[in-house]
Amino acid sequence: MIYLDYNATTPTDKRVVEAMIPFYTEQFGNPSSLYTAGQEAKRAVDQARKKVADLIHASEKEIIFTSGGTESDNLVLRGVARAQKKKGNHIIISSIEHHAVLNTAKALENEGYSVTYLLVNENGQVDPQDLKRAIRPETILVSIMHANNESGVMEPIRELAVIAHERGVLFHTDAVQTVGKLPIDVADLGVDFLSASAHKFYGPKGIGFLYAKKGVRFTPQVVGGSHEGGKRAGTENVPAIVGLGVAVEIAATEQKEEMIRGRKLRDDFEEALLSAIPEVRIVSRGVERLYNTSLVLVKYVEGESMLLYLDFEGIAVSTGSACSSSSLEPSHVLLSCGYPEEAAHGSIRFSLGKFTTSYHLKKVLIVFPPIVEKLRKMSPLRDVYSYPPQAD
Ligand SMILES: *Cc1c(COP(=O)(O)O)cnc(C)c1O
Repeated sequence: MIYLDYNATTPTDKRVVEAMIPFYTEQFGNPSSLYTAGQEAKRAVDQARKKVADLIHASEKEIIFTSGGTESDNLVLRGVARAQKKKGNHIIISSIEHHAVLNTAKALENEGYSVTYLLVNENGQVDPQDLKRAIRPETILVSIMHANNESGVMEPIRELAVIAHERGVLFHTDAVQTVGKLPIDVADLGVDFLSASAHKFYGPKGIGFLYAKKGVRFTPQVVGGSHEGGKRAGTENVPAIVGLGVAVEIAATEQKEEMIRGRKLRDDFEEALLSAIPEVRIVSRGVERLYNTSLVLVKYVEGESMLLYLDFEGIAVSTGSACSSSSLEPSHVLLSCGYPEEAAHGSIRFSLGKFTTSYHLKKVLIVFPPIVEKLRKMSPLRDVYSYPPQAD
């Protein structure tokens, strides 16, 4: 299989798996137990917490282990909403957030909170002036993602966080697509909360963390014992936490090289693709974007058909968001960028990773253009439509 869906998930690094195994078998103690085996497990959890804190330049007390990106996003939005109910009931997010944020905001709306969904420009970026205008006296939280999982577009987090703070509003960023791929410094970004997930950077599934700046108030959503400083109850998933720690360590040492190698692979691939197939566009190509992601729009063809034909050739890609690939809804990200529905249906996302080689991409460049040609010949989508303008 040629795997080109790293934004959906990544294979767990073998070094991560090896480090995890002893914590299932010999070192299975509960970190809350006072005897030696428990304290050894606690030490392993503490060490992983230190590695995570170091990676994002935070302190250990500011790291809360969760079951992943979705839980971290839920914890911030619901936790701040409940803790700050007296102050206000207004939350601001962008219209291109991952469903973990989008649907949590919608759930809060059903509970009586008010949510503003900031629109984005044709490249998928939030305009800081729009945020400025949207903040009200009763606003309690702004949540804007660091990089979008479908197009890879980067949001101007520093600028947005400053604007929120000028008005005394807390700022969260879903950094699930950037932690492990890019160097992250929470102080430099200026955020109060940051979500991340291990399986997006070669760690195990079902583990992630929330960075919560010292002193910020939010209400725990899972209550029970006093784990994670009383902020998230439940016996720690020790093997997964150890795995996350190792994944973090590997990212810290290998990231710099991968940023250069990955970008070159991706850029060469895009250039070849654009010259091999007429009437295609790469979304957000002209702006700051994740170095591993290519969201490609192909006119007159359905994303799902391209996906299935590529799968038949042993190539795994997605149509954009993994969460929406089982429904046939067009991507909310592309619709938000102003693409008509027919165009939004014709998307295919190639997301590259550290096991991607130029050989893999050459194979795609051989099989993909004929697939498009074939599908276009059978396409009922003959109506000519145009894409909104975009700086390429
Ligand atoms: C994958 C992803 C999530 C969800 O993380 P899980 O650990 O799979 O729950 C949230 N936000 C973004 C941007 C993602 O890409």
